[in-house]
Amino acid sequence: MADKLTLRRGDRLVLATHNAGKLREFQELLAPFGLDIVSAGELGLPEPDETGTTFVENARIKAHASAKASGLIALADDSGLSIDALGGKPGVYTANWAETPNGRDFAVGMRRVEDALQAAGAVEPGDRKGAFNATLCLAHPDGRDQLYVGKVDGTIVWPPRGERGHGFDPVFMPQGFDITFGEMPAEMKHSWAPGEVGLSHRARAFGLFVNDVLGGAVEH
Ligand code: IMP
Repeated sequence: MADKLTLRRGDRLVLATHNAGKLREFQELLAPFGLDIVSAGELGLPEPDETGTTFVENARIKAHASAKASGLIALADDSGLSIDALGGKPGVYTANWAETPNGRDFAVGMRRVEDALQAAGAVEPGDRKGAFNATLCLAHPDGRDQLYVGKVDGTIVWPPRGERGHGFDPVFMPQGFDITFGEMPAEMKHSWAPGEVGLSHRARAFGLFVNDVLGGAVEH
């Protein structure tokens, strides 16, 4: 069996993203582990086309492209919102649903989701279930990779609620709560520390990644 990928303090890691917001979020999450982090954007690496039809495929495409081009271990994530009544849409195309001629507008994206739900006759909360998914891929230039999948189930509400978070947060109410991600303090949505339940999809995927890969980088 091929050796498992692990990271220790001081190791170099490429974050396979050209997205400034995602980069900041990853840097914050990885700050305690003392890694030497550089982004694909900073290295001037090409941005691959996300041609996959699943979160796993797209996370793999991004992580392997950065690992091969840089010769370093790379971490990528792909995420999105999948709604049952829409056959899993918008799924890997979540960001595209917010595209407008003037760039991304999530108010427009949320409205498109609502229009699609109305068109599908999904009016009652029980018919408006969905999940946020985040898939992380850690890839080595030699082709090895490891995947970590986090998911949080919830219900799509209308109208949007809350000013916090980003993207589709104001219409997503996680199961077991009566507030949306848009109404939640960031610590509540994102905490991944052991013993605290990481609520968000990204926090859950990140918790799995930390346990599996960064055990040797935790300060005692
Ligand atoms: P990608 O992973 O860069 O392909 O983008 C995924 C898209 O899913 C983002 O642009 C957001 O619109 C949406 N998304 C992913 N995670 C979240 C979240 O935690 N809250 C709200 N929207 C999210």
